[in-house]
Amino acid sequence: MSLLKGFDGRDPARIGQELHRFAAELFPICRSITGNGIRQTLAIIGRRIPLKILEVPTGTPVFDWSVPKEWNIQDAYIKAPNGRRVIDFQASNLHVLNYSTPVHATMPLSELKPHLHTIPEHPDWIPYRTSYYKEDWGFCLSHREMLSLQDGDYEVCIDSTLENGHLTYGECYLPGRSNEEVMISCHACHPSLANDNLSGLTVATFLADSLCRCDLRYSYRFLFIPGTIGAITWLARNQEMIRHIRHGLVLTCIGDKGRFHYKKSRQGDAEIDRVAAHVLKHDGDSHEILEFSPYGYDERQYCSPGFNLAVGCLMRSVWGSFPEYHTSADNLAFIQPERLADSLRVCSAIVDVLEGNQRYRNLNPCCEPQLGRRNLYRPVNADAIGEEIHARLWVLNLSDGENALLDIAERSGIPFSVIREAAQLLCQSGLLSVIQDNVWIGNGRGVASKEHKVKQS
Ligand SMILES: [Zn+2]
Repeated sequence: MSLLKGFDGRDPARIGQELHRFAAELFPICRSITGNGIRQTLAIIGRRIPLKILEVPTGTPVFDWSVPKEWNIQDAYIKAPNGRRVIDFQASNLHVLNYSTPVHATMPLSELKPHLHTIPEHPDWIPYRTSYYKEDWGFCLSHREMLSLQDGDYEVCIDSTLENGHLTYGECYLPGRSNEEVMISCHACHPSLANDNLSGLTVATFLADSLCRCDLRYSYRFLFIPGTIGAITWLARNQEMIRHIRHGLVLTCIGDKGRFHYKKSRQGDAEIDRVAAHVLKHDGDSHEILEFSPYGYDERQYCSPGFNLAVGCLMRSVWGSFPEYHTSADNLAFIQPERLADSLRVCSAIVDVLEGNQRYRNLNPCCEPQLGRRNLYRPVNADAIGEEIHARLWVLNLSDGENALLDIAERSGIPFSVIREAAQLLCQSGLLSVIQDNVWIGNGRGVASKEHKVKQS
């Protein structure tokens, strides 16, 4: 299979518009780490891909944490002394401190002010603030709006509930020939924020959709979870199957116009780290590879020392590094259709490399086989040999059972897709044979093959 070929056969502008439309459909929903917002979001994702929705009760212990109370909100406002709603949750769900406890009171401005959050440096933007683990209430508003509030008594209402319920997450599992897995994880817990949360889950949904139609080597598990507590909960509930995760990627902040950043896994030299670096290197645009650090998104949990999974994080602009981050300016205009499409393309290329990175054996290893008589060499009238012929020579030379195609691509400097095509052609010509991933298939208790043990040691 080649996802990239399927992708390149379509109009990227149209793909970008579809992605952006999907993000726009999800944008107005007031999401949080629990509650009906994330349920609604998962229901919409579930219309596109096979999604299992799971509910974990409040109070369930998950490692050093426990599943929090469920939060839901109907309405919230601040009414000025003249009775006008000056802050209205219906206008923007960012106006409420996410996880605010219910309140309905009248108070002077001086008493209200400690509950108001603004960004003085960006006086027109509403900040996004949360108080998940400390019961509190508050409002977020533009600094300009706050400065315009006159002294007097304000009616404050947050019509929310914080009570025993569930933490909800979604899982899309696509079985492949092997029970070893590629995990794609994204957080789905932010309210109306586009780049931080919606870009990742939009691209993940479309990637899963395109994989649904493929014959897959690996099995794929897409997780749509609340940040931090969702990943911790998922890991706590899935400790038995974690050993099947061979590669993983956290997707976030991939809709803005910034260049790509890939943050390596804690292992630092995992196959996914090399695959992401290779794809970005040959992608043409500038990019940056970041070393692992124990802060960021859910790779923090997947890469905690008890798991140390090979999970990296793909972003465009890095969280926290752009002024729009966690503000109302991270909106649908901040993510661009062509950037979303390009991010989906890069993810497709990463999947292609993971799927195709197998080892082969040269069946004619003593001296070069005569490519000319097999129509695999340059035409008689050509002076130089092209990249595709170099690729055939590299594949033949390094296919001694030790090197996988990515090793060959890296050493030759030739893009993986060209190396892979060369390998497929040489196989058809009877000069090469694939070394099968021979043991993982079937019972869910596969152990790494002898060949893999050699490679990993
Ligand atoms: Zn965030």
